[in-house]
Amino acid sequence: MLVVQDHPPLAASQTPQIHYGQRMTEPQHYDAIILGAGAAGLMCAAVAGQRGRRVLVIDHAPEAGRKILISGGGRCNFTNLGCAPDRFLSHNPHFAKSALSRYTPHDFLALVERHRIAWHEKTLGQLFCDGSARQIVAMLLDECARGGVTVACNTTIGAVEHADGRFRVGAASAPALVIATGGPSIPKMGATGFAYDLARRFGLKVVQPRPALVPLTLAGEDALFRDLSGVSARVIARCGKAAFAENALFTHRGLSGPAILQISSYWQHGQPVDIAFLPDRAPGWLIAAKAASPRQPLRRVLRDALPERLADVLCDRLDIAQELGATPDRRLQAAEAQLAAWRFMPNGSEGYAKAEVTAGGIATAELSSKTMAARRVPGLHAIGEAVDVTGWLGGYNFQWAWASGWAAGQEI
Ligand SMILES: Cc1cc2nc3c(=O)[nH]c(=O)nc-3n(C[C@H](O)[C@H](O)[C@H](O)COP(=O)(O)OP(=O)(O)OC[C@H]3O[C@@H](n4cnc5c(N)ncnc54)[C@H](O)[C@@H]3O)c2cc1C
Repeated sequence: MLVVQDHPPLAASQTPQIHYGQRMTEPQHYDAIILGAGAAGLMCAAVAGQRGRRVLVIDHAPEAGRKILISGGGRCNFTNLGCAPDRFLSHNPHFAKSALSRYTPHDFLALVERHRIAWHEKTLGQLFCDGSARQIVAMLLDECARGGVTVACNTTIGAVEHADGRFRVGAASAPALVIATGGPSIPKMGATGFAYDLARRFGLKVVQPRPALVPLTLAGEDALFRDLSGVSARVIARCGKAAFAENALFTHRGLSGPAILQISSYWQHGQPVDIAFLPDRAPGWLIAAKAASPRQPLRRVLRDALPERLADVLCDRLDIAQELGATPDRRLQAAEAQLAAWRFMPNGSEGYAKAEVTAGGIATAELSSKTMAARRVPGLHAIGEAVDVTGWLGGYNFQWAWASGWAAGQEI
């Protein structure tokens, strides 16, 4: 059970210190400088600030938490109750375990409830705000204010220097620096690959970044399916050993919808994606349908079970025009097998412009899983999407941002 404590209102001296377009010319000494005022950076700053650390957060965007604001269709799917390490992709599948176990979905939910933000569970453990994602950003900024954190938005990071055990960013300096600038997905929101460039400059390895949770594009034979733009159906999408049972959506460029976004994180160029249409049908269902209604054509059977346009395209491809009773069992078995694993060969994805996250990133081998500190550069940390940990669709990526931000916030 959750213990919900009332959160006293902020004192006048604790209103959020947000500076815009700060020039930072006077020397300023902090305990930690956090680059990026997104989900992970704000959580880290709030935790460290409330531990008494003097914290500066710098972001080039005009406002903090812009991806939070557009997330979950404006309602922010802020966590998932089913959060478990196997719902994350990483070169080291064990890396995320420590942080995820020390800051759980229930911890974040307790924070949300302390701020009296109404929420609901949508499906599959996904928690959303009833109102607006803006409440989550306001909550994080309020927590930062309680820790006396300075947030500098609209501020260019410029050169980052490291000497005598201190990091210097403009006129600010600190013994701890946290890379929290996320990944390059959705560049029009101000997303950049800055985290990777900076990490490489400090000698940290970066696992090749790639767009993830992204629509896939179809060409060649498969392009005919693009005529189904707007049609969706419940399917199982498979790629390698990964499988997701959710909706797939045909688009004018290819495939999207939750099942495809999920599988896209596992897909690599040249690999097929197999789609099971009618995944709930028992093996032998077409032969059984033949026995029950031999006068029915396959087209009608499929139209009864799938959106009409999709049923027609599949039926045309299966090339079975006659009644089931006139169709040999082996052809029905072959049709059933094809419907259970319809092979698509995507020729690409819609790229960073449409990717909800970036997979890959700063190599986990470079970091402590407990503190997110770089093993070889004392004081340097990396958190959130910048790190090679990528969650499934459904609130997992924010949970990683909160958990990794919390872990680093305890340390800096
Ligand atoms: C459309 C969309 C919807 C999403 N919905 C959900 C959802 O509902 N649930 C979920 O769990 N996840 C969702 N995500 C993913 C989630 O938003 C990210 O995984 C999460 O925001 C990562 O947090 P972060 O702090 O690491 O990075 P970010 O939140 O991206 O923050 C990085 C910050 O760094 C700043 N920055 C970047 N480069 C620079 C630079 N060069 N100089 C200065 N500042 C810089 C950016 O302005 C940004 O404020 C969604 C993503 C998108 C794009």
